Amino acid sequence: MDYISTRGSAPALDFADATLAGLASDGGLYVPRTWPKFSEAEIAAMVGLPYAQLAQRIMQPFVGDCLTPERLLELTTQAYGRFAHQAVTPLVQLDQQHWLLELFHGPTLAFKDVALQLLGLLFEEFLGRSDRNLTIVGATSGDTGSAAIDAVAGRAKVDIFMLHPRGRVSDVQRRQMTTVLAPNVHNIAIEGSFDDAQAMVKRMFNDAAMTDRFAIGAVNSINWARLMAQIVYYFAAALQLGAPARKVAFSVPTGNFGDVFAGYVAAQMGLPIERLIVATNVNDILHRALSTGDYSQSTVTPTAAPSMDIQVSSNFERLLFDVGGRDGLALAEQMRGFESTRAMQLTNAQREGAAALFTSARADADEMMKAIRWAHVETGQVIDPHTAIGLHAAQTAGIDPAVPVVTLATAHAAKFRDAVEQATGVRPSLPLRVGDLFDREERLVQLPGDYAAVADYVAEHASPKV
Ligand SMILES: *Cc1c(COP(=O)(O)O)cnc(C)c1O
Repeated sequence: MDYISTRGSAPALDFADATLAGLASDGGLYVPRTWPKFSEAEIAAMVGLPYAQLAQRIMQPFVGDCLTPERLLELTTQAYGRFAHQAVTPLVQLDQQHWLLELFHGPTLAFKDVALQLLGLLFEEFLGRSDRNLTIVGATSGDTGSAAIDAVAGRAKVDIFMLHPRGRVSDVQRRQMTTVLAPNVHNIAIEGSFDDAQAMVKRMFNDAAMTDRFAIGAVNSINWARLMAQIVYYFAAALQLGAPARKVAFSVPTGNFGDVFAGYVAAQMGLPIERLIVATNVNDILHRALSTGDYSQSTVTPTAAPSMDIQVSSNFERLLFDVGGRDGLALAEQMRGFESTRAMQLTNAQREGAAALFTSARADADEMMKAIRWAHVETGQVIDPHTAIGLHAAQTAGIDPAVPVVTLATAHAAKFRDAVEQATGVRPSLPLRVGDLFDREERLVQLPGDYAAVADYVAEHASPKV
């Protein structure tokens, strides 16, 4: 399988190079040249496979010759062996129609671990075959940072620089990043929002002064391998609920559009998905884009679901590329327009293509709190604010009552204890696997929201590419 850029002019790469690359050199994102397809019989044969084996089966066509099936299975076994639940991503029934897919049993308590535990191993595998050093630069609204740091801390040939918006991540989220003292981990708190941090990271990928000296890699969901790993749990859940004979809908708390795009890919590969519900909080650019075709950025409002406080969803570009006829040069022009005016209209093809599978819904603070309370009172489940937004959307999207709806539970409630306590009166306790998080020493630097300051800091502390 080779990988092409959504903006049509960067060179195609194989899986290993696409994994190590960040943004494509033309500013686009890498996508597989074609979607691998499974037949109904092939999907039926996946029923009952242990998670690590299912993961190998789903991912092998994307990996191609870069890893043998035996090696890929070793890596998935190692990555998912660190999860605190044997099923890796267990399903919990809420009522006759609704289910939670618990994606938070990894080391840092959010779904980002599912992809990043594997990505850390892939980096090590592919760097071990070359004499390259990798400099990972990322921006986090909270959960990517801790999951990425856990996945690469102490690994050879990798440095990680993680930017977070100062004061806008929860205490648990910050400490999960800043208490990792491995010398290859660099935490940077910047003034500004997540989108400001993300914009600096994107700029660094396009800054020749940096890319000439450093191999800059990505752990954000612009990295294709992350999305690939997330496809697996859509299959895992649907297979348990009767696929391929029965269709399932998913409700996905959405920020950067990575997680829900993985669901879209699952559908392209042949998994019968009835609907993908894009759930947003009041930062609702995606809800507006999908319901009216207007993709225009407004300011970010901080909420109790900070990992969704995003107004520019990087992976939406992958969808626009695919449903818009895969015309990279046309998309490059459309995206240039967006980057200069912060607004764009979807084309008719893009709107219709998206509407075929996606529905969207938005939850304000009240609706989110109500969903947390509903789950607690009616089902005994304590859910986090992000999951609650997904659940609200699942319950209001008007899905046929005969179709099971799976809400992706993207974080453990203990990661957002204050909001959960406010809604339920119960303060969720941190699972034992996070240990003495609040007693450990923190290490981070604070920098202004200024690109030059961040670039200088990275250049001073990173290892040159060879
Ligand atoms: C990252 C994150 C999201 C949003 O996922 P995207 O892939 O960015 O759409 C939702 N919930 C939680 C808890 C997250 O950490």
